Formats: sequence, structure tokens, C-alpha cells
Amino acid sequence: MTLSKSFCLAVAGFYSVVLFLPPSAAAKNLKVITTLTDLASLTQEVGGDKVDVEALAKGYQDPHFVDPKPSFLLKLRHADLLISVGLELEIGWLPPLITQSGNGNIQPAAAGYLDASQFAEILEIPQGSVTRAEGDVHPLGNPHYWLDPENGLRIAKGIADKLSEMRSGDAAYFAQRYSDFEQRLKQADQRWLAEMKPYEGRKIVTYHRSWPNFAEHFHLNVVGYVEPRPGIPPSPQHTVELIQQMKRDNVKVIVVEPYFDLKTPNAVARETGGQVLVLPPSVGGEKEITDYFKLFDYDISKLKQAFDATH
Ligand SMILES: [Zn+2]
Repeated sequence: MTLSKSFCLAVAGFYSVVLFLPPSAAAKNLKVITTLTDLASLTQEVGGDKVDVEALAKGYQDPHFVDPKPSFLLKLRHADLLISVGLELEIGWLPPLITQSGNGNIQPAAAGYLDASQFAEILEIPQGSVTRAEGDVHPLGNPHYWLDPENGLRIAKGIADKLSEMRSGDAAYFAQRYSDFEQRLKQADQRWLAEMKPYEGRKIVTYHRSWPNFAEHFHLNVVGYVEPRPGIPPSPQHTVELIQQMKRDNVKVIVVEPYFDLKTPNAVARETGGQVLVLPPSVGGEKEITDYFKLFDYDISKLKQAFDATH
């Protein structure tokens, strides 16, 4: 073989590699699966067009009790990264799916598994021994922590750092996306806080303990729950006590997550002259709640209407 001939073959080989490489292979998007829509929205904010992100649960489902579907396994099988809420929120449905996915990347100890609770301020952490006694589904603290925009920001930062770790070549892109998100979220939060200011200290009752972070951030006072304990259905005795308490404290708004039966809340409202307000705690809980910003836009607007109507 002459030198020129081998050179030509090498050149041909080089071009064939370049030409036959699929254009997307060099910069293949990270496939991110999140358990909840809220985490998907935050991932989309910082991941931009470098990620393909999808949530398993729908925003109108109870995140503690999601029916696993075969399609979940398929999604998990091909994921580069799985982001969960943690604090045992998904313990009833996610662990077997992770195992059955057969995807080594996303097993709990692997680099492609991210528990978002590590980034957030967690409320209601039980004192003393940790237990799920009496069926309480919040044994490690309150897992509905994304309902405080400051936590949303912390989670987004944690996700941006994780994406940068997995795709170091795009680290500057993710950092820029985070910085832009931070600016927009802080602006929106100023607006939300101003809108809620006239209702500071308002007392409400909620069905489930989904709202402590939201209430703390927006200065509302949650004084009671339709559930006796998180995950435990209402009992007649507890309902009687709740009605007495609402009358005593003059509480008129009963916030109910979209996946709970309205029978008990409606009865409580009749007894107390209060109003039942169905309020989605997640992105996708209503058709118009298409992202993390719209979640607060929607919930704050509905709360204001309920407060004004029951004043
Ligand atoms: Zn809960």
C-alpha cells in the first residue's frame, strides 16, 4: 500500500465516521424523569433545550398514592436521571418501579438518582423516634415543600448543579438558565407577596397537610385539618372537634386538594358557614397551571377570591 493510498483510506474513513454519525449523538439530551410535575417544571427551567423531561404522576393525583402504570417502567428504563421528592412521599409506589426498571443509572445510590428534599427547607420534622405509627404518611417531615418559592429556587439550584455534573460541557448553559430563573422567580415572588399582604395572618383549615411551606411563606395561619393525621381519613369525632374549633376561631376557608372527597369538607362548610376551596398543590392540577409560576398565580388568585367572599 502506497502512502497516498493509505492516506486516502484514512481520509475516507474519517469522513465516513463524521458523515454517518447522527447529528444529535454528539449532544444527546439528558433524559430526566421526575416523580412530580413540579420537579419537572423546575428541571425544564434550568435544563432548557438540553434536557428531555417528563413527570410520572399527573398534577391532579395524590402524590402519596399514585397508581403505577407499565409506561412508567418504560420511561424509567431509559432515564439518565430520576428526581424524586423524597421524605418517603413516593414510598408507596416508586421503589418497586426503580428496581423493576433494571436501570442501573437511577438506583437510589447511583449518580442518576436525585432526592430533591436535600436542597429544601423542611418543616414539621418529627421530634424523637421516627415512625409511621397510626399510618402517618409524613414520618420524616413535610414532603410538600415545593409550595414555597424559596424552596423552588433551592431545588432548581440543586438540579442545575446535578445537570452540570452530568454534562460538564453545558455547565455554563445550566448556570445561565438558573440565573435567569432566579431573577424571574424573585420578581414574581415580590408580586405574590404583595398580593397576599392584605390577608396576612388569615386562618384557614386544609384537608391534608400540603400547605405548611406555602402558609409560612405567605403568612397564613393553618389552624386545623380535615384529616386527623396525614393520610388518615376523617373520623366523625375529629370532624366535630374541627367544626367547634372553626366556630371558635371564626375560620371560613377550607382548602381541599383536588383528589379528596368533598363530602366531609362540604359538611364542615355547612356547619360553619365556611367555603370549600379546591386548590391544586401541583403543576398540572388544573389545565391552565402549565408551570411552576402559574401554580402560584392560580392558587393565590383563588385564595384571594375565597378570602374576599368570606370576609
Ligand atoms: Zn402529604
